[in-house]
Amino acid sequence: MLAKSGESFYDTPSKRQFTGKEMLYKRSEKINKKYDVIVIGSGLGGLTAANKLAKSGHSVLILEAHNKLGGFATWFFRKNKKHIFDVSLHGFPIGMKKTCRKYWNKEIADSIIQVKDVRFINPQYNLQTDFTKEDFSKKLVEDFKISKDKVDEFFNYLAQMNFYDDQSMTNRELFEKFFPGRNDVTRFLMEPICYANGSTLDDPAITYGIVFSNFMSKGVYTFEGGTDRLIKMMRDELLKNNVDIKMNSKVEKILIEDKKITGIITNGEPVYSDTVLTNANIQTSVLKLCDQEHFNSEFLEKTKNIRLNTSSCQVYIALKEDQSIPHIGELVFTSTKEKFDTESLLDLDITSRTYSIYYPEIRPQDEFPKTAIVSSTNARFEDWEKMSDEDYKLEKKKMIDETIDHLETLLPNIREKIDFIDAATPLTVKKYTHHPKGTSFGTKFEGLEVSMNLHKQVEGLFHAGSVGIIMSGWLGAANYGVIQANEIDSYLYNKNELGVTHARF
Ligand SMILES: Cc1cc2nc3c(=O)[nH]c(=O)nc-3n(C[C@H](O)[C@H](O)[C@H](O)COP(=O)(O)OP(=O)(O)OC[C@H]3O[C@@H](n4cnc5c(N)ncnc54)[C@H](O)[C@@H]3O)c2cc1C
Repeated sequence: MLAKSGESFYDTPSKRQFTGKEMLYKRSEKINKKYDVIVIGSGLGGLTAANKLAKSGHSVLILEAHNKLGGFATWFFRKNKKHIFDVSLHGFPIGMKKTCRKYWNKEIADSIIQVKDVRFINPQYNLQTDFTKEDFSKKLVEDFKISKDKVDEFFNYLAQMNFYDDQSMTNRELFEKFFPGRNDVTRFLMEPICYANGSTLDDPAITYGIVFSNFMSKGVYTFEGGTDRLIKMMRDELLKNNVDIKMNSKVEKILIEDKKITGIITNGEPVYSDTVLTNANIQTSVLKLCDQEHFNSEFLEKTKNIRLNTSSCQVYIALKEDQSIPHIGELVFTSTKEKFDTESLLDLDITSRTYSIYYPEIRPQDEFPKTAIVSSTNARFEDWEKMSDEDYKLEKKKMIDETIDHLETLLPNIREKIDFIDAATPLTVKKYTHHPKGTSFGTKFEGLEVSMNLHKQVEGLFHAGSVGIIMSGWLGAANYGVIQANEIDSYLYNKNELGVTHARF
C-alpha cells in the first residue's frame, strides 16, 4: 500500500457491481442531461443530502470520483478478499442513530450499536469506561479526585455554551479555567476528541464543547456489520428514492453564468442543473472547481485563509483465521508520552496510537468472521510529503514495526498471530479522497462560515462536507448534509413558486 509508487489503497472492483433497474452508472453509461440537484462527492454529507433531497421529490445526480460510495466512510479488502478493514469506523455519537432513522431508514438506525469497552492506557492513568457522562463524572471524582461540584460545573458549562457567543475561548483556556495545572485531566477529557477530529488545545473551546457533549450524551457507537454493509444499505435506499449515481466521475468544473449555477463538467461532458451541492473540500470547491471571477475578493481571501485540519496514519492488522485474542477493549487510546500535548500527537516519532479492535462479533454476516486491528494516529501531511521514495518506504516500515512492538505490550505474542499487515499515510489519504494535504477532518473553525455563505456568492451553489470541526466526523458530516439539503429545498421551493424549477413530482 504505497501511495508514492501508485499501489492501490482501496479495493478496485473491475466489473459493474450491481444489476437490475437501478440507476447506477459506470463511465460508459448515460445519465440525463439535466437534474434539479447535482451532488459532487459521495461522503456521508453528500449521500445524506442527496437522499433527503430525493425524498423531497427533486431529481438528484451524485457524481463520485472514486469507484465506491462513502468517501472516508470506507473499507478495503486484502488477500483476495480474505481480510476486510474499516478505515473510519471507530466511533461516533448516539446522534447518528436519530439521523439515520430520520433521513435514511430504520434498518440502518437499528444496526448502530454501542462500543461498551473504551480503554485509556498511558503513563498518567489506566482506565476502562463506557464513555458516558455518568462514568466520566464518576472517574473524574474517584480517580482524578476532582470535586463533584467542579465536575458538574464543567459539564453544565459545556452544555450552556452558545455557538454564536462563545468563539473566543480556546480549549487550553477552558481546561485551565476548570482544572488548572491538571494535565492528566486535560488528557482524559481532550485526547479522544483530538483523535476524533484533529482538535488542538488552541482551537475554539466551542468546537470541543459541542463534539464532547455529543459523545457524552450516551457514549460511543459503531455500525454492526461494518462500513461496507452501511454503504450498501445507503446505496439501496438512494436507488429506491430514484437518485442517479455515477461513479468514476470526477467533476472537473462547476459551471457558473451571471453568478448563477448552470451545471458541471465531468469526464469532459456537461451535465446541467441550477443547483450544485459540493461535498468536496471547501477550498477545492471554490478555488479549483469554480472560476474565481464569480466570487468577491473578501470571500476569496477568507477561503484561501482557511486552515486545514491534520491528516492520519493507520496500520491495518489481520489475524490468521485460527487465531483469536483476549478481550482488551474495543477502542483503546494509548500513549507512551509522559505528559499530554496536542502537538506531539502528530509527530513522526509516534507515541500515541488508538486501536480499534474488530472482534469477530462485529461482522456477524461474514462466513468466517476474523479479528482485525486498526491502529490510528493523527499526522502531519508535510512530514510525509517531503520524504524521498526510499525514506517513505523506510518510515512506513518503521511505523508498522513499532506498532507491532507496542501492541505486544497489550497482547503478548500478537506478532505470531498476524496474517496480514500494511499501513496508510497522509499521502494515501490524499490520493484516494482528493482532500488537500490528506486532511482527515476537513477544516478548522473558519471553514464553516465560508461553506455556509457559498450560496450568497453564487446562486444555487451549496457545500456540505467536513468543515469547522463541528461538521465533521460521521455524525457531523451527515447532519451538515441535512442542514444544507434543507437550504436547497427551500431555495428550490422558492424557485418553484416562481415556476422555474423542474422537480419530478
Ligand atoms: C483515518 C480516519 C479515521 C476516522 N475516524 C472516524 C471515526 O471513528 N468516527 C467519525 O465519526 N469520523 C471519523 N473520521 C472522519 C469521518 O470519516 C469524516 O469526517 C466523514 O466521513 C467525512 O464525510 P464528508 O461528507 O465530509 O465527505 P468525505 O468523506 O470527505 O467524502 C468526499 C467525497 O467527495 C469525493 N470527491 C471529492 N472531489 C470530487 C470531485 N471533484 N468530483 C467527484 N467527487 C469528488 C471524494 O472522492 C469523496 O468520496 C475519520 C477519518 C479518517 C481519515
